[in-house]
Amino acid sequence: MAMFIRVDIDSAVQQDAALCKRIAEVCPVDIFKVVDSRLETVEANLDECTLCDLCIHAAPGKVQVVKLYR
Ligand code: SF4
Repeated sequence: MAMFIRVDIDSAVQQDAALCKRIAEVCPVDIFKVVDSRLETVEANLDECTLCDLCIHAAPGKVQVVKLYR
């Protein structure tokens, strides 16, 4: 599988159910989902990331989109 990004979610996000929901909602390509009040990434959608940074703006300093390609 050719994934070109990795998404790092700070553990602080998981303490905030409203923030988890907001991050999941803001991504235009459904890279996040909330499972049992925890924010998870949807591996199958990772390569759909448009690098729009909406998730990063939703949770400054708590979500990072790491580019894996060179
Ligand atoms: S940068 Fe945009 S497309 Fe990529 S994970 Fe964040 S919200 Fe989704």
